[in-house]
Amino acid sequence: MARYSRNDQAGVELPKAKLDRETLRQALELFRYLRPYRGRFGTALAALFGSSLLSLAFPYLAGSIVDAAVLHTKGTGNMAGVDRTALVLMGILALQASLSYFHFLSFATVGQRSLIDLRRDTYARLISLPMTFFAQRRVGELASRLSADLIQIEDTLITILPQFLRQSTLLVGGIAMIAATSLKLTGIMLVSLPVLTVVAVVFGRKTRKISREAQDRLADTATIVEETLQGIVNVKAFANEGYELNRYHAGLGRFLTATLRGARLRAAFIAFIIFALFGSIVLVLWSGARLLQQGEITFGDLTRFILYTTFVAGAMGQFAELYSQLQKAIGATQRVRELLRESGEVEALLGPPPPAALPRLRGDVGFEQVYFTYPSRPGVEVLHAINLTATSGQRIALVGPSGAGKSTLISLLLRLYDPSAGRLLIDGQDARDYRLADLRGQMSMVPQEVLLFGGSIAENIAYGKPDANADEIQEAARQANAHEFIQTFPEGYATLVGDRGIKLSGGQRQRIAIARAILKNPAILILDEATSSLDSESERLIQEALETLMRGRTSFIIAHRLATVRHVDRIIVIAGGRVVESGTHDELQTIDNGVYRRLASLQFRE
Ligand code: ATP
Repeated sequence: MARYSRNDQAGVELPKAKLDRETLRQALELFRYLRPYRGRFGTALAALFGSSLLSLAFPYLAGSIVDAAVLHTKGTGNMAGVDRTALVLMGILALQASLSYFHFLSFATVGQRSLIDLRRDTYARLISLPMTFFAQRRVGELASRLSADLIQIEDTLITILPQFLRQSTLLVGGIAMIAATSLKLTGIMLVSLPVLTVVAVVFGRKTRKISREAQDRLADTATIVEETLQGIVNVKAFANEGYELNRYHAGLGRFLTATLRGARLRAAFIAFIIFALFGSIVLVLWSGARLLQQGEITFGDLTRFILYTTFVAGAMGQFAELYSQLQKAIGATQRVRELLRESGEVEALLGPPPPAALPRLRGDVGFEQVYFTYPSRPGVEVLHAINLTATSGQRIALVGPSGAGKSTLISLLLRLYDPSAGRLLIDGQDARDYRLADLRGQMSMVPQEVLLFGGSIAENIAYGKPDANADEIQEAARQANAHEFIQTFPEGYATLVGDRGIKLSGGQRQRIAIARAILKNPAILILDEATSSLDSESERLIQEALETLMRGRTSFIIAHRLATVRHVDRIIVIAGGRVVESGTHDELQTIDNGVYRRLASLQFRE
């Protein structure tokens, strides 16, 4: 996890992709995503290889045409040879065109299909990672970085890899063809090769570093946009548009500096390559002309040399760029692989299915000497020696000052985190013995701030039980006192809510959340009471709906307004991460200097 170490400049230090055997081997691990499509991938490779070999025939036959034409002008040959060769050449081109069409389409198909599998797996892993993972990262940055990495891998599979294979064939084939006719010319050509290679490697390394930095800076700006939009209400409320704009602008400035540095370097590299490329052609042309004069080679040979040299030089020129692209891709696979390797909830959620489905829980809950420290804030113990039991069907209210640890206790109950010490017991068994999905499948939470998903009201209620039918959804809505107001919308249950739909009031959203929980029919219920008070009619409807919901379930209520906890079975008062008092409202009222008594007298005075 420490691999994503943060620094203070709103940037992130990224793992460097060294191109050695180990990183390469690891990157190849991702090739298992190609396995289901290996047949098509293999034929695509063969077609690519075939079409590259056919490219090599082009200079050779062009040379033959020139030779035949020269013979004809000297009166020793006839044009039939030229015609025949030209026809063969056209045939080869047609074949090459069809092969190219096939391999291009195949690489795209195979690449996209395997990428879809990879995207799905990455997303599945991401959403099932434990809370500790998200607490330590900026989520917006993670999302944008991941999508950038996946695009890079996509580009590699579909374009870079085939290009790399094609250029390698042209390079090796081109040199072989030149060597087959004149070793002297090959020698001349190869003198420039090591120089080009060294320069390419050095430049490649440098540009990779800079382009990585530019990517990081761009990701930073994306994070700023995302954070701003997520908290847009706050931004506006504080009239901080100017501040955010400045922050974004400064981020863009850092991105610009980094990209321009990369661009300058790449421009110099391109200039060098052009010079080296045409330089080597001039060199071959010049030496070839001399050999021609000396009668060592024919006009056709010279034509071949020139064409093969452009192939070879072109391939060399592209190699540097391809190499740096490959390095980038390996950096990208590294981050994706790290994410895929992160373990945590996913195994617990999807892990080996238990021999039998978990029967319905009774809903007994026990905290046994529970201590807890957030992994992101080591050294600060948030909960100390918590002991608490709730038997099936009981209503327990958690009260206490802000920051006391109420939400943390609930997070442990939901197993978003596990206790640092001590045990959480569910129906008398350690909570860790259950599969997470089974356990959470029998719990429901009605949060303070209800977030509805973009979709219809029916879909939002069905979130608690995705396979529910329309009747079940309506029945749940009725019990949650939501049916009435849903009926008043022209489109009823199909009304869209969320970003693109209508906006529901706080009280209406709460009732949707209650309907969702009723539909799920949990054994354990968590209510995080809304702090804002609603009008009394709305309050009554919600209270009624909650009564229905709590019946027969173990309920934990994080209570902010003590008026609502008078009738619960037990009130647990938490202060400074400890249970300081516990009892009914009447019992707690009698404790002199008690925390509850003080909180209650404050609230009732208000
Ligand atoms: P409130 O009534 O204001 O919601 P609370 O009683 O629910 O407060 P918690 O949210 O449980 O209190 O917080 C208890 C302590 O744990 C606080 O000091 C808080 O700063 C800290 N804390 C909460 N969440 C985290 C987290 N994800 N990482 C680190 N510390 C946290």
